[in-house]
Amino acid sequence: METGLKNRGAIVAASSAGIGRATAEAFAREGAQVAMCARTLEALEAAAADLRSRYGVEVYAEAFDVRDAGRVKHFVEQVVKRFGRIDVCVTNAGGPPAKPFLSVEPHEWRAAVDLNLMSAIYFAREVIPHMQRRRWGRIITLTSVAVKQPVPELVMSNAVRSAVVGLVRSLANEHGKDNILVNNVAPGFTDTERVRELAAMRAQETRSTPEEITSKWAADAALRRIARPEEIADAIVFLASERASFITGQTLLVDGGYYKGV
Ligand code: NAD
Repeated sequence: METGLKNRGAIVAASSAGIGRATAEAFAREGAQVAMCARTLEALEAAAADLRSRYGVEVYAEAFDVRDAGRVKHFVEQVVKRFGRIDVCVTNAGGPPAKPFLSVEPHEWRAAVDLNLMSAIYFAREVIPHMQRRRWGRIITLTSVAVKQPVPELVMSNAVRSAVVGLVRSLANEHGKDNILVNNVAPGFTDTERVRELAAMRAQETRSTPEEITSKWAADAALRRIARPEEIADAIVFLASERASFITGQTLLVDGGYYKGV
């Protein structure tokens, strides 16, 4: 499949590890120029150097926290300076902690909003004017299957990510006239550090093993397994590609059939 992504400028936020890292790699494989960020410089630089050496593409990396609007603005300016363009922006961050509703304090709710909603807003605000100028853009938010089916104990994630879907539909409507397509990718359980931590925590609570917890999650999906990060990345690349030129405002579940609704 010809994706038409060669030499395009793609931002992938929170990309030193996990799904973000796999997504940055998938864009590099397509020959795109890739801009990466995460909080820890060392891990980020290592990931960026790996992509440069394996794919021979330009990779720009900057360490900062995506909750910081000023740093997001600075990052986008630097990307434009280096690549001369921003065509694709994948918003991503870590996820809020798993906790039962009554033990979540108000400041923790605000932190979840900052992490998973405001960070996507900051990126969208900064990249849209550049995409408008070229009349071509793809914004893809990364959320969770929780936007269709709440995940037990992830009440903050379940609630805040649905707000991102509202944002996606609004931006898709408002900026369709600029040829900016805005979609959301919602992964099911995926084999990353975050999910391994979640499995270890659940195992402790239920006196089982992380392997048993992961097997249970796998059994809940029609495909009877959890995803590899590359499988989520491929769906993101498709939505960013020329092949997805008439898809906007949508949520694409990449969950192996975990969500069972019609
Ligand atoms: P991960 O923990 O493996 O990787 C997260 C990445 O984000 C890392 O590079 C980390 O350094 C970076 N990061 C975290 N907080 C940041 C911040 N404030 N500023 C900048 N960078 C930050 O996570 P993952 O499993 O790849 O998940 C990515 C997203 O997808 C998360 O929002 C997660 O909740 C969601 N998700 C994951 C799964 C899953 O099963 N792994 C399922 C559904 C949704």
